[in-house]
Amino acid sequence: MTSGTDDHVESALEGAVEELLMAAAKLRLEPGYVNGHVYQDWHVRASSSMLHALAGVARAYSSDLERLAGRFERLSKPICAELLELKPTSDTPVLCVEPVEQEGEPCPAHTVDRAAELGRCTYPEPSASRKPQRICTSEPAPGADRCEQHLRYCRAVKLNGEICNNPFCSVPKHRKMEQSRR
Ligand SMILES: [Zn+2]
Ligand SMILES: [Zn+2]
Ligand SMILES: [Zn+2]
Repeated sequence: MTSGTDDHVESALEGAVEELLMAAAKLRLEPGYVNGHVYQDWHVRASSSMLHALAGVARAYSSDLERLAGRFERLSKPICAELLELKPTSDTPVLCVEPVEQEGEPCPAHTVDRAAELGRCTYPEPSASRKPQRICTSEPAPGADRCEQHLRYCRAVKLNGEICNNPFCSVPKHRKMEQSRR
């Protein structure tokens, strides 16, 4: 093999790697449904091992590509994916890209106990064994701290310390407590 052939192979490989990285740079989080209001439904169309490998290729190719490599690494890990605007103003909703330990988990800034300060529906699922708990994705009703659906759940605390949480609660004492909240 002459050195001329080597050069040829090298530049062909270089071109191919550039093409690969350019195509891969377009990878992003995409919603599976039209509105993408389900966290689990946001995904990157590449496996996490593929994204990890792409980060390696970008780094090996040029140290100038560290930012791109970092992006691949970030996309390879589970992220919070909390929608930062419930009524997106564009086709590409703004998502929280904080990395999280496990798929489907919110980041510490987006757990249900932060809902009030974020102006979101504050309803906590009493039976949820999953911690940390995500925030309800419905908009709070006008002037209320919960969405239309969750406003119906009775908030009275029963004698055993549990929250009633019955959407059709008719216990008179509970109804009184609810009314005094308004
Ligand atoms: Zn978040
Ligand atoms: Zn709600
Ligand atoms: Zn009740």
